[in-house]
Amino acid sequence: MSATALTRGGTPYTPTYAESIDSKKCIGCGRCYKVCVRDVLTLVDRGEDDEVDDDDWDDEDAKAMMIVKNPEDCTGCGACGRTCPKDCFTFVTA
Ligand code: SF4
Ligand code: SF4
Repeated sequence: MSATALTRGGTPYTPTYAESIDSKKCIGCGRCYKVCVRDVLTLVDRGEDDEVDDDDWDDEDAKAMMIVKNPEDCTGCGACGRTCPKDCFTFVTA
């Protein structure tokens, strides 16, 4: 079941919550971080996250990557995904 929110004018819409970021595609550019107003995302050095396979990412010069640190604070605005040049984000609706 998906959540429903309202615009200021009362129009319903379905929020799209940031679920994960593809660590293999992310170049650590920070665009998504700049547009998020909820402190959901954070940049980490590659190698800090044990769940990341560092052997096979697209840009070997990228020393950092973004992660979804506080998913519970996401409002589902979707701005991060729209600004990402590498199409890294996966969203969920509930
Ligand atoms: S969907 Fe909006 S609130 Fe959630 S992480 Fe992306 S920019 Fe932040
Ligand atoms: S905008 Fe995309 S490529 Fe840039 S840091 Fe965010 S997830 Fe990574």
